[in-house]
Amino acid sequence: MHDIEAAAELLSGVGVVKPEIEEAVRKLLDAFGEDVDREGLERTPERVARMYDELLAGYRVDPYAMINDALFDVDYDEMVIVRDIEFYSMCEHHMLPFLGRAHVAYLPNGKVIGLSKIPRIVDLFARRLQVQERMTRQIHDFLNAALHPHGVAVVVEGVHLCAKIRGVKKANARMVTSYMCGSFKENESTRSEFLDHIAREASPFSI
Ligand SMILES: [Zn+2]
Repeated sequence: MHDIEAAAELLSGVGVVKPEIEEAVRKLLDAFGEDVDREGLERTPERVARMYDELLAGYRVDPYAMINDALFDVDYDEMVIVRDIEFYSMCEHHMLPFLGRAHVAYLPNGKVIGLSKIPRIVDLFARRLQVQERMTRQIHDFLNAALHPHGVAVVVEGVHLCAKIRGVKKANARMVTSYMCGSFKENESTRSEFLDHIAREASPFSI
């Protein structure tokens, strides 16, 4: 449910589809040897341009503006974990999707963020041309800068279509990236608490 809301929020600022993208898609189709004007392809450049507009909406959203009204001062210092956040991104090397789940945790230091914002933050950084490692770090760095917590941990599990559909060996393997700071990095038991939690009852995802 939350990813639909997140998409709606991201797309609220969507501008006009760029004619340059439509033109580029037309050129691409032509280079494939296709008849750009045949019926099935007639509106493809427009559709593709619109699709990129959605998939890359993260470029247009200011993360600080998005969380502005959702930071609260609280006296709570237990770990906050949001796990199994679905994301859809696009690898910058092949412009093909990679998708999976992100798990985010932090240890508050007088400030918390509305829970529904965390999936939106993931979505915002996912909807760009990305590499999984950088996306993981960006989510981490943003939360760290916005909340100044005692620590942030982000684990991302992703399946990359560019590997899966091109016959790369073990293409079903999930890529796991993580980035941690503060107590998650320095304190073994804090890190274990987080990792145990996200490992519990993890439902397998597949594409
Ligand atoms: Zn790729």
